[in-house]
Amino acid sequence: MGHDAVADVLLGVHAGCWGFGWSPQQADRTIGAAARAGYDLIEVPAIDRTLLDAADTATALQRHGIAPAVSLALGEADDITSPDPAVVAAGLHRLREAVAFAADIGAVYVGGVTHSAMRRYLAPPTPEGRASAVATLRTVAREAARRHVVLGVEYVNRYESNLLNTAAQALAFVEEIGEDNVVVHLDTFHAALEETDVVVPVEVAGHRLGYVHASENHRGALGTGTLDWPRLLRALLASGYRGPITVESFSRDVVGTASAVDIGLWRSQWDDPDEIAETSIRFLRSQLDTARRALAPAA
Ligand code: MN
Repeated sequence: MGHDAVADVLLGVHAGCWGFGWSPQQADRTIGAAARAGYDLIEVPAIDRTLLDAADTATALQRHGIAPAVSLALGEADDITSPDPAVVAAGLHRLREAVAFAADIGAVYVGGVTHSAMRRYLAPPTPEGRASAVATLRTVAREAARRHVVLGVEYVNRYESNLLNTAAQALAFVEEIGEDNVVVHLDTFHAALEETDVVVPVEVAGHRLGYVHASENHRGALGTGTLDWPRLLRALLASGYRGPITVESFSRDVVGTASAVDIGLWRSQWDDPDEIAETSIRFLRSQLDTARRALAPAA
């Protein structure tokens, strides 16, 4: 798509950059803005198909010529690690709905916090809760495979899940599920807090790494924090990773209070989503070019 040097790495952006509203008008505006900024892919939060029509999203994606991925974060009411079977059933339903939405809009990936609720837990994980999550995701993965959808397990920091906080834990969990279409989803914001080094998840997850959220340690503009992008991108390219690298940056000023509370956006970091989208893709392209040159054999 006009950037030959990095044509084999898909660059994506999370729709939440422009806010989480998904009326047909908002969906079209957000998808159009992501395409205009030059992204190959937009990550769309799984909608409630009883309230919104997936066909509107599919139409907007076609109009703007950009590929979709789908994500979600389970919550307390649909936590598949819960001891309450009704809560686990609600989680199974929500995951199935996300896969159906992905199939509806032509997405081949459903990721996010699919393994537990995205919340601060007040107790350690239990073996029963973990087994419930593994069994539930195995069921969803088998159904997703029939629709050519890959399922991602995004590990998050200790304040947002008690189950999976590192790539090593996520890899063991994915291997326990035991289905080929389940991958580790790395988010560099969470990794910056939990891993000994940002290249560790790339090395640990290896070929099981299927999706990357590019996010600064403070979730603000890429390149303005402590994340070591040159080493991360060299490690990704050297590992053979060619999956999406999707910018995840949200602003309290854009997403509204309810979403800001969910994500913990207590302060304002930027106010112009188009500008963040454009500077982020420029940053990633430039960093990828540098990483590729560093890896190329000396002429
Ligand atoms: Mn993320």
